[in-house]
Order: sequence, then C-alpha cells, then structure tokens
Amino acid sequence: MYPRPFEYIAPTSVSDAVRELGNADFAKVMSGGMSLIPMMKLRLLSPELVVDIGRIAGLDQISDDGDTITIGALVRHDDTSESDLVPAALRTAAGWTGDRQVRSRGTTCGAVAHADIAADQPCAVLALGGTMIAQGPNGTREIASEDFFVDVLTSALEPDEILTGIRLSKNGGGSAYDKLGRRGGHTDYAVAGASAHVSMTDGHIRSARVALTGVGTKPTLALGVMEALAGSDGSEASVAEAAQRATEGVTVLEDLYGSVDYKAHLATVMVKRAVLGAIANA
Ligand SMILES: Cc1cc2nc3c(=O)[nH]c(=O)nc-3n(C[C@H](O)[C@H](O)[C@H](O)COP(=O)(O)OP(=O)(O)OC[C@H]3O[C@@H](n4cnc5c(N)ncnc54)[C@H](O)[C@@H]3O)c2cc1C
Repeated sequence: MYPRPFEYIAPTSVSDAVRELGNADFAKVMSGGMSLIPMMKLRLLSPELVVDIGRIAGLDQISDDGDTITIGALVRHDDTSESDLVPAALRTAAGWTGDRQVRSRGTTCGAVAHADIAADQPCAVLALGGTMIAQGPNGTREIASEDFFVDVLTSALEPDEILTGIRLSKNGGGSAYDKLGRRGGHTDYAVAGASAHVSMTDGHIRSARVALTGVGTKPTLALGVMEALAGSDGSEASVAEAAQRATEGVTVLEDLYGSVDYKAHLATVMVKRAVLGAIANA
C-alpha cells in the first residue's frame, strides 16, 4: 500500500527541525525510516509532514564525554553494535535488531523513540539506566529511561521534541542482553527478552538493573529480580532463584507469539541468561 500524501522537509539544524514540528498539526520525525515508512505505508500513521533529520550535521557520532558516552540521534544500529565505547548489552541488542538492511539504516535513537513493545535496544537502554536528551521549543531536557517508555509505541517525547542523544554511564560493571526472537534464535523482535547491568564488590552483587521486553506494553524493570540480586553472591543458583521473580508486578500480555504462561516462563529464562552474562562481563 502507498502512504497517504504528505509533505517532506529535510532541515539542516535541530532548531529548524523543532520549529517545523511545532508548526504542523501532525508531523513526525524521520531518522532511518525503518519503522516510520512501513507504518505510513500500512496507513497506521498518516502525518501531514515528515521532518527528515538525516541531514543535520553532528548527530552521527558516539562521543566519549569522560564518565559518560552519548549516542547521537543518527548513530545507526550497525555503529552502535560495533563500538567499543558502548556497553555490551546495547552492543548485542543493536547487533540483533532486524536484518542487515535495517541495521545499516535504522538508528538506535529511532528504535528507542519508537518504543515498540518487543524491541531490543529500549530494553538494554533501560537496564543501563540511560538518560534521553530531548530538544524542543523551550530548549533541552533530560528524561530518565524509567520515565521515558510510557505505553505501546508511546514515549515521553512531546510531538515537537527531538531525541538528540542517549547518555550512558561508563561506571563499569558488566551488562548483557538476551532474547528469543519471533523467528527463533536471535532473529526478529523479541517474543521475550531481558537485559541486565550488574556492579560487583568483593564477589557480591552491589546493585543490579534488569529490564524485560516483549512481555508487556513497554520495556519494564524487573524490580523483584533487582531486589533479590542486591547483595547476593551471583552464583547460578542465586540468579536462578532471583529470576523466578522476573514478572513480579508486571502485567504479562498474550500475543500471537505466546500465551501469558509461556511468556512469563520465557522471561525467567532470559533474565537468568542476561544476569549471568552481565556477571561474566563484569
Ligand atoms: C524488517 C524489519 C525488521 C525489524 N526487526 C527488528 C528487531 O528484530 N528488533 C527491533 O528492536 N526492531 C526491529 N525493527 C524496527 C527497527 O529496527 C527500528 O524500529 C527502527 O530502526 C527505528 O529507527 P529508525 O531510525 O529507522 O526510526 P524511524 O523509522 O525513522 O522512526 C521511528 C519512530 O520514531 C520516531 N523518531 C525517530 N527518531 C527520532 C528522534 N531522533 N526523535 C524523536 N522521534 C524520533 C519517528 O517519528 C517514528 O515515530 C525492524 C524493522 C524492520 C523494517
């Protein structure tokens, strides 16, 4: 199907792009277009204006800011997956996003802004405690990852805001991501997936952040697992026990790929793998 008619512009600065977004009744940002264009072709979205940010200079870098890194809005999945600056969880999630074509066009910030319920990189960014940097008509604001994902395909971004970057801490520890893809293995969106970041002290877990994807309406922290892991020895048995709390407080939803029971079980398997992987990387 063809999209409904729309206007297209490609501004060369973030402030011009923000102004254009604010002037239209219904405008959408386009980064790689890997999700926006299919949704427009399926007529699930029919913006009157597409604001292509692909020609804005300076957004395609992963910068090393000392204690943090910032992944710019135009950094592609391939670049994220291949950068030594990026924590392992997000490198893996980016490397398992879609196919080769999608990874060479789609952007990490676009995947995060898109907020698909079963996406890979939002889950890793949530486990890593990323901070979203949004620019709108009133300047720049920062949004913590736990406040960013609101609902199905809905983030905390305002319609006239652009996600210009994602800031991640370089505070050490280890991280990992694992999923069962809809076409088996690591291919396609997650039936269920999990990402973990752990900090270790004297052979014990000092703190852990664990996030889930594919099981509910948005990427979600597995708070029960995080509580169970804090102070534990990180042994396989203790991690397996903590993983049993994967969906505590989470509303698991059935979809075409699995029942509630199946997804809840898969979440425990993925949480265990992600946490053990993070400990091994720490
Ligand atoms: C064949 C195929 C397979 C896929 N498989 C997977 C998969 O296995 N796992 C997975 O997680 N994803 C998968 N995806 C989804 C895809 O990888 C990402 O959703 C996509 O790359 C998003 O990045 P983009 O730059 O292309 O965003 P776009 O398509 O340009 O935009 C997506 C949405 O985010 C908004 N947006 C984009 N950038 C910004 C910004 N900087 N600021 C504000 N809003 C913004 C747009 O307005 C739009 O609503 C797949 C997609 C395809 C087509």
